[in-house]
Amino acid sequence: MFKRILKVTAAVLALGVLGGCSGNNTSGSSDNGQSSSANDASVESSAGGSSSADTESSERSSDDVPEESSSDETSVTPINAEPDYEWDKVIALTFDDGPNVETTNEVLDVLEKHQVVASFFLIGNNINDESAKSVKRAYDLGCEINNHSKSHGYMDKMSAEEIKEEYDFVDQKVLEITGEHTKFFRPPYISVGEEMWENISAPFISGLGCNDWDDNVTVERRVAVINRGVRDGCIILMHDAQGNHKTVEAIDQLIPMLKEQGYRFTTVSGLFEEKGIEPAPRMIYTNVTQQGMWG
Ligand SMILES: [Zn+2]
Repeated sequence: MFKRILKVTAAVLALGVLGGCSGNNTSGSSDNGQSSSANDASVESSAGGSSSADTESSERSSDDVPEESSSDETSVTPINAEPDYEWDKVIALTFDDGPNVETTNEVLDVLEKHQVVASFFLIGNNINDESAKSVKRAYDLGCEINNHSKSHGYMDKMSAEEIKEEYDFVDQKVLEITGEHTKFFRPPYISVGEEMWENISAPFISGLGCNDWDDNVTVERRVAVINRGVRDGCIILMHDAQGNHKTVEAIDQLIPMLKEQGYRFTTVSGLFEEKGIEPAPRMIYTNVTQQGMWG
């Protein structure tokens, strides 16, 4: 067990650069392709990004020991939240659009392999007897289970009643599976309206994304965009939608890469707690230290 270095100065510095990690969630833009149910308006961030600085491969082998991929939900050993490497920054990995049996479990395998926790934002309509086992496994591993609405529609167009139903459906299902309520809400497509603020009391979460709902975005690109945009306090937004294997591969590369840079992984709740921040109303967080509503 190594010494952890908590550098206050690093946190203060990070505040100065916050812009990179927040405010870049353009809703809509590239997600008009109706058909694919599984897309959030995440982030572009890139623009002039020619920085190919981050080539994957190199540091892959320098990570943790345990090598297991037991999908056996009967005996789950919680992920060890105590990092065994030096860190001075904290972030939260989050996954939208599950649960499912295949990809959610593949993501959990990678989290177990690298011994990091994450937070899952579930779509209610994806919860069934089988996928509920993935949810239970995630919870037992120490991950946080959150709310991404029942039907993944544009909730800013919904009535108060509909909005409440969307939220409560997922909340109730998760309560049945884990015994705990969902704690945070991620609006589908990151689209937000007045009725939503009025009728959902959980804090709203966005995140730094890499358009990983688009199968055309390569693994390398996913890794590079997150690696370039990440900052202390950041919430990373990815998707464990059924079949999204590129994201499974991307996080297998990203996690050791970010550990190497001194990042520690926690849940969304953990991130607010560790930064000593109380989530404020009418904010949509991409970084828990952000000052403005969107970043
Ligand atoms: Zn989504």
